[in-house]
Amino acid sequence: QAKNKGRNSYQIFNWTMHTEVKQRLQLENDLRRALNKDEFVLFYQPIYRLSPQQKHRLCGFEALIRWHDPELGMRSPDSFIPIAEQTGLILPMGEWVIWQACRQWQQWIQRWPQLQQGGNISVNLSPMQFVQPDLPGQIDRIVSHTGINFRQLRIEITESALMQNETAALETLKQLKAKNIQVAMDDFGTGYSSLSYLLRFPKDVLKIDKSFISTLEQSSDSQAIVKTIMALGKNMELDIVAEGIETAAQVQFLLEQGCALGQGYWFSEPLTEVQAEQILEQHFATS
Ligand code: C2E
Ligand code: MG
Ligand code: MG
Ligand code: MG
Repeated sequence: QAKNKGRNSYQIFNWTMHTEVKQRLQLENDLRRALNKDEFVLFYQPIYRLSPQQKHRLCGFEALIRWHDPELGMRSPDSFIPIAEQTGLILPMGEWVIWQACRQWQQWIQRWPQLQQGGNISVNLSPMQFVQPDLPGQIDRIVSHTGINFRQLRIEITESALMQNETAALETLKQLKAKNIQVAMDDFGTGYSSLSYLLRFPKDVLKIDKSFISTLEQSSDSQAIVKTIMALGKNMELDIVAEGIETAAQVQFLLEQGCALGQGYWFSEPLTEVQAEQILEQHFATS
């Protein structure tokens, strides 16, 4: 009896694994095809310099990848970045993202030179992409070729990018910083050892994770954490970006704490290139 049961559950387990493996292989193939067929697009979420008079100043965008899947429609990065990372496809995909974002920024800078003043384009780098030895060289080639200013490129990395190989990560960061590329710690506060990483790695910007922002109104603990990150940023002379701002009350709280920069649905969702240009047009026509 028991033996039988055991065998059955073994088979079920095995079969589930089989299905999962098949799905992953399928996704991997789809991603490969998507790369060749140019099915990825970048969306751009505006980042604002917060102002107490509510005249928030548009000072850049975060580039966020989407997959225009011919069968399933627009897909969010959470549904394919993990597989891209596991299969190494993140390397060509990530390189494409940097190219695309820099080309776009260069076009926008030419049309709206006001963006030059403190503006920048932010690009997310995944852990595997970050530790590839050629990353600084790659970025160098892309920046030179597109003609954007090094200072206006901001890379966003999470703690996990630093954890795998700390020596290599430190070396990479030093090379990027030497070129004046801006480094932002993304999802700050959610990792294992955010503070110890803060101590050891050079950076310019902390992005307060949206989980702290979305709970500001209900949780005095979230308020305390945000205040503390603000103080940390101030004392370490880092810029702070609050991500995931969805309400006026959150903007108010962040302004009171001296938070300089913010992004979130309250201001704008991530936009297509055309939508972003409409926003830029409006913004600089009236300011
Ligand atoms: P992230 O870098 O922390 O990006 C912020 C995410 O929050 C984005 O999700 C954005 O659309 C979403 N968001 C923005 N404002 C709000 C808001 O007010 N409320 C809420 N609830 N969410 C908001 P998205 O675009 O789905 O991206 C998810 C993650 O995928 C990103 O998190 C980033 O880690 C990764 N990712 C996106 N694009 C790329 C890329 O080009 N390369 C790599 N390696 N990773 C990327
Ligand atoms: Mg990010
Ligand atoms: Mg984030
Ligand atoms: Mg994230």
